[in-house]
Amino acid sequence: MIEDAVKKILAEVPKDVRVVAAIKTRTSEEVLRAIDAGIRYVGENYVKEAQELHPVIGNKAMWHMIGTAQSNKAKIIAQLFDMVESVDSYHFAKALDTQCGKIGKKMPILLEINSAREEQKSGILPEDALEVIKSVSALPNLSVQGLMTMGPLLDDPEEIRPYFKLTKELFEDIKKQTVPNVEMKYLSMGMTSTYRVGIEEGANIVRVGTLLFGERHYH
Ligand SMILES: *Cc1c(COP(=O)(O)O)cnc(C)c1O
Repeated sequence: MIEDAVKKILAEVPKDVRVVAAIKTRTSEEVLRAIDAGIRYVGENYVKEAQELHPVIGNKAMWHMIGTAQSNKAKIIAQLFDMVESVDSYHFAKALDTQCGKIGKKMPILLEINSAREEQKSGILPEDALEVIKSVSALPNLSVQGLMTMGPLLDDPEEIRPYFKLTKELFEDIKKQTVPNVEMKYLSMGMTSTYRVGIEEGANIVRVGTLLFGERHYH
């Protein structure tokens, strides 16, 4: 039951941890049930799905973009989302900044870190993060607020801990640099099988889909 799963995780996690419901492939009915049970943040990977669901869900929840962000979708992302967790290049940040400027919006963003240095994954390599943050911080319509990482897909949730630790250390390093216009507030780490490890390693945003809605079926 979606309702039971929502109540369970909201009761379990510390009060300062945002639980983002990852809603890819879910119906508006499922998402509304999660919201009625107490979910305040939804995370969407696909712009197309966001366009379908946004008219129904609207501001019943805050919208986080968590999927690979394409610059040619920046206009819609600027319109539909309240935070973009998956900023993975200056190029995309620039496109998003331009579109946010056109609609007078200051968009909170996180930088996505490729913490396991996986070839096929998007995200910024840890050693490039500070430099990218410094350039992105100059964009007037974006507000850099922290980091997000996926980490590798592994059988044992324990095995992801080193990648979360590394991302947390990077988060603290950047925070110490006190870059103007950068406020390191949010660290988004952990999904259904790893959110506990994420919170133990300092996450204050977790993104869970399967835990709330069950297995995904792609159509
Ligand atoms: C799908 C997805 C999640 C949630 O995954 P579950 O294993 O279903 O909890 C979290 N973050 C991102 C970026 C995702 O794409």
